Amino acid sequence: MVRYVYDFLDGGRDLAGLLGGKGANLAEMTRLGLPVPPGFIVSTEACRAFLATGEEPKGMSAEVSRHLSALETGVGRLLGQGYDPLLVSVRSGARFSMPGMMETVLDIGLNDDSVLGLAKVSGSERFAWDSYRRLVHMYGSTVMGVDPALFDEAMTLLKDAREAPDDLHLDASDLVWLVETYKSLIRNETGRDFPQSPAQQLQQAILAVFRSWNAERAVLYRRRERIPDDLGTAVTVQRMVFGNLGPDSGSGVAFTRDPATGRPGLYGDYLPNAQGEDVVSGVRDAVPLAELERLDPRSYRQLRDHAQTLERHYRDLCDIEFTIERGTLWMLQTRVGKRTAEAAFAIATELVQEGLLGPDEGLARVSGDGLARLMFPRFDTTATGETLARGVPASPGAAVGAAVFDSAEAVQRAAADEKVVLVREETTPDDLPGMVAAQAVLTGRGGKTSHAAVVARGMGRVCVCGAQDIIVNAEARRFTARDGIVVEEGTVISVDGSTGDVFLGAVPLVASATMRYLESGEEADSVVSAVARALDHADSIRRLEVRANADTPEDAARARRFGAQGIGLCRTEHMFLGERRKLVEAMIVARTDADRDRALAALLPLQRRDFTGILEAMDGVPVTIRLLDPPLHEFLPDRTDLAVRIAAAEATGQQPEAHHVELLAAVNRMHEENPMLGLRGVRLGLVVPGLIAMQVRAIAEAVVERTRAGGSPHAEIMVPLVGAVEELRLAREEVVRVLTEVGEETGTPVHCPVGTMIELPRAALTAGRIAEEADFFSFGTNDLTQTTWGFSRDDVEAAFFSAYLDKGVFAASPFETLDREGVGRLVRIAVEEGRAARPDLETGICGEHGGDPESIQFFHEVGLDYVSCSPFRVPVARLEAGRAALADMDTSDGR
Ligand code: ADP
Ligand code: MG
Ligand code: MG
Repeated sequence: MVRYVYDFLDGGRDLAGLLGGKGANLAEMTRLGLPVPPGFIVSTEACRAFLATGEEPKGMSAEVSRHLSALETGVGRLLGQGYDPLLVSVRSGARFSMPGMMETVLDIGLNDDSVLGLAKVSGSERFAWDSYRRLVHMYGSTVMGVDPALFDEAMTLLKDAREAPDDLHLDASDLVWLVETYKSLIRNETGRDFPQSPAQQLQQAILAVFRSWNAERAVLYRRRERIPDDLGTAVTVQRMVFGNLGPDSGSGVAFTRDPATGRPGLYGDYLPNAQGEDVVSGVRDAVPLAELERLDPRSYRQLRDHAQTLERHYRDLCDIEFTIERGTLWMLQTRVGKRTAEAAFAIATELVQEGLLGPDEGLARVSGDGLARLMFPRFDTTATGETLARGVPASPGAAVGAAVFDSAEAVQRAAADEKVVLVREETTPDDLPGMVAAQAVLTGRGGKTSHAAVVARGMGRVCVCGAQDIIVNAEARRFTARDGIVVEEGTVISVDGSTGDVFLGAVPLVASATMRYLESGEEADSVVSAVARALDHADSIRRLEVRANADTPEDAARARRFGAQGIGLCRTEHMFLGERRKLVEAMIVARTDADRDRALAALLPLQRRDFTGILEAMDGVPVTIRLLDPPLHEFLPDRTDLAVRIAAAEATGQQPEAHHVELLAAVNRMHEENPMLGLRGVRLGLVVPGLIAMQVRAIAEAVVERTRAGGSPHAEIMVPLVGAVEELRLAREEVVRVLTEVGEETGTPVHCPVGTMIELPRAALTAGRIAEEADFFSFGTNDLTQTTWGFSRDDVEAAFFSAYLDKGVFAASPFETLDREGVGRLVRIAVEEGRAARPDLETGICGEHGGDPESIQFFHEVGLDYVSCSPFRVPVARLEAGRAALADMDTSDGR
């Protein structure tokens, strides 16, 4: 027969799935000999059965009765008996902590009769009626479904009538009146009476707690925290102890260390003469635990000792709920406590130093997300200004600067050492210089993967996008925000990329010591040292290499300082912007081969210089250079813009500029309905004569130059968007021809591995064939996600991703966390079939997923050789690659 109920003495923390975290840890504390009021736990299994059928599973109530009898015998009193009644709490508690999301009912067992007995035995009428009014309130709302606000209103009215500043100023007769008021409230609202039978109270409370698993806020919380919906909650039934018995009683919460900083030492709040729920609900102001040390030194010392016992036992920061009943300390809850990123690193390192944890376990306790948080400067949260807007928190961190409305203004002001925030309706590649110059980017449109967001994240710029409260008028150089506030150019605003908030004025910033460490190696404080130790250990055990996506020598150098072992993706399109755009235009509109060759020849030395710089910054380590990928019309002016200019000239009887006419013809010729699936990638190289040759020549000559300078350049040439082996074969022939040519011309042979991006499903599915022509594969998981799902990223993200997340179609955007089932399967197939065809095939990933912790775990599992991510994500990737390697070892720490 299934067993549904467990005594505290039968459980332990390894049974959290069955007993819920709260129940399992109460059992664990009982076993440790800590003072825990006795009780028993109805399992999550019973809850699941109840929720599935709507009925109590067979045998459950008999088991509950049996355990209740045992509890009564142990305590020597009966539930709700007339004299000295046993009272119990009925507490929710799921496997994963869902703080405050479900229900708990205290003081079960009180009725019109036992309240008198409780008054007598405690010697306090006030206490007895205070407990009763709490029960009627909690039971009325949780079990009988009365709106809790109605009870609060009655309480407020009473306090006002008595001119009582808080509940402590109400006397016994006030509380008697309140109980009667609550009871008639219940009667009016539900047509039923508050039940006087303790047994019925207990049974109904248990079922109500089961039901609270599906309360709206609990469901929402689970969706956000990605907790499965089918786990159910356990119910703990526990003898009440009373913190509301007078000034020598009270309730509190404690942490075994400071959860904000990780500093050792008891930390928490205490509320005298109060029941547990008062501490968190804020009905009265709690005092720091130091005050308890003064009020009741003996209980304080005991609490400190128990805290230490728990921390040694759990080998982690614990949080604790406790109650003091007339000078006796009771432990009511513990769990491994939530903490800030700083505290996570500090605590893990300290526990390793104390010998409580091995270094692997220490590494398991910190996370890449936490490290990322430590890298960004922050706002001092005690000081915030007027909120102007809230948008999508697209690239975390905090920035302050003067609002500017175009790229040129941003560059100009930044050159004069002014800090600026670039505000645009949305950004385009043309805004790049402004984004580089700005502290932050704020846009009115677009989601987390809009141009602004992707570029900002790549550069480590703060970004809030899609802030719908703002209307940008770039022409008039101002934007309108919430409540009609108008922000003119030059006004200082603050942008919080971690929360999406935008403030008027300068909110003070706190600099990140972790970032200073990564840049300079300076270990400013213990948190930074803890980060350093964690990274060192991760580096010593990880199998995945970490490279960076970097297009400029500056980025390459930073990536290297941050620990990158090479460049996994060097895009060449940025090298075609700015001044060089004219040359690209000339190449595109060229009528004759000679014209085109001239344009290409002019680009060649510029490209060579780019590559020389990068190869120098990355001397001795691989640099994977991708040949030009985006459609060429991205380098041409806007179609409407040109048309308007020509029309304007014609309207005034002038001859339109020949160059404009020529450009418009080119733009029209090259226009594509769906450029993402158009003439780009390898297709471009095979169709535009001379393009591959020019790029490869620039690379090869840069390699020769670096070699002659005594360097050790390792350029790798990567062909984008290949779908068929034939495409790669043709491209490769051209690459090899030019490499040989340059080798012969210069007398310095140039050897560069030639590989391809795997970013189309067809490439993944024919990976065995493609590997015949490829020295390496690099998974372009951005495009692979787009083409696998048939999503146009820029369109779908803003349009309906939030709806998809709400509806649970996916738990995270597949552009942020790799979709293992679909895209991941293609990656797996390609790795397996590619390696089968060519055992020495090198494999890596260069999509944005390369910096995402969860995705990195997957890339480790499928056996890639490296991940490549933006320079700012390199430390995160190093840490997560180390943590991924832990999964292969046994580091179970019993949690
Ligand atoms: P939550 O999960 O919302 O914290 P709990 O089940 O922990 O809910 O209970 C709410 C409050 O009631 C807590 O402060 C807890 O310490 C207190 N409490 C629970 N059971 C008892 C009990 N048997 N005696 C005294 N206080 C209790
Ligand atoms: Mg609790
Ligand atoms: Mg791509």
